[in-house]
Amino acid sequence: MLFNKLLGYGNKHFDIIKRVGHITDERVRPHIPTSDISESILTMMLSNLGSLNRLDAAKSFGSLEDIVDAPSVSTIARSADTMDLDAIREVLKEIYLAARKKKMIGGYYGRAIGIVDGHEVTSSYLHKCGHCRVRNVSKIEGKEVLQYYHSFVAFILAGQKFATMLDIEPILPGQGELTSAYRLLSRVCVNYPKAFEAVAGDALYLAGEVYRLLKSHRKYAVSILKDESRQLYEEALALSDIAEPVTYADDKTTYRVWKHKIEGLWKSYNKEITVIRSEETKTAKDIEEKTDWMWVTNLPSTGNLRNLVRICHSRWQIENQCFNETVNIWALDHIYRHSENAIAVFILFLFIAVNIVNIFFNRNIKDKRIKTKVFLLDLVKASLLLNHRSSLPPNPIPT
Ligand SMILES: [Zn+2]
Repeated sequence: MLFNKLLGYGNKHFDIIKRVGHITDERVRPHIPTSDISESILTMMLSNLGSLNRLDAAKSFGSLEDIVDAPSVSTIARSADTMDLDAIREVLKEIYLAARKKKMIGGYYGRAIGIVDGHEVTSSYLHKCGHCRVRNVSKIEGKEVLQYYHSFVAFILAGQKFATMLDIEPILPGQGELTSAYRLLSRVCVNYPKAFEAVAGDALYLAGEVYRLLKSHRKYAVSILKDESRQLYEEALALSDIAEPVTYADDKTTYRVWKHKIEGLWKSYNKEITVIRSEETKTAKDIEEKTDWMWVTNLPSTGNLRNLVRICHSRWQIENQCFNETVNIWALDHIYRHSENAIAVFILFLFIAVNIVNIFFNRNIKDKRIKTKVFLLDLVKASLLLNHRSSLPPNPIPT
């Protein structure tokens, strides 16, 4: 059955059951070993069941009999409250290292690019925990309507076929995205010293401290330049007026690209940087759509300009493949258990499943009828659910 094939693939290439078996939690004298819990969460994620209650339903239906000794919902939830996040991060790292060694994942147009961005996972007017962020969403002055939410910053690697999810860091109450991103970037620079040479981010990441942090690990940054950074922005526009762009066409888009070296106009990072401006005209059904992009980078400006523009745009992958796809296909925003630690546990496990399924889908699925990942996941889920003995025809041959 397909679920067993997927799990077998994960075991063969990434030793996945053994690796998640090393994850620990802080329950005192637990009756159920943490390895059973990790295995259950992995099963739930790989089969995209989407909730602990569905895992429980699958258990009572007999679907999990020969796969995992699934503990109860409350045991899984209690364990997730104190599960060791760094141990789960270690599993992600081991998958990445094995996949890179086997050339299952590659670079992005000749470079190794990391991408960072923030995402909000949940909001509620009723449910809260001690680590919820809170905001007033009332539209009436003097009236308070409080909304509780959690958010995190994610770090992924850009890829030409698919992105690889590597790590997350919660944004704590009272803190900004950049503070959490700083912790995350400090960690991934140490944990993944060879995985990326530059990090792409939105305009928020045009921050001297981010550029300096990455530089201290011999890495570069690429960030969107918006007109809030007045001096740099206006200088780049003025320079574009007096310089000829490089022009080229790619599929249905034509590009006019300028590259300017600028120094001394960005106070918090007083080194020479490059501003790339790309004016892009897309023609679809005779309608022209024009967009104007600007990025700042301290990448040494060697290499192909076309690829440099692609790298600047690679930031889209975190929106599309990390957030949109995991929310729409994988239920990233579902709260399996509402506690700060558990929210991170389930997202990191989800990342493990997403990476394994992406590699499995791109390298192992030869059946032409399985055209999309969504359909593959439907089949995996169905195969897991129908894996119960009562549905099997009686075996006529005595064994
Ligand atoms: Zn909360």
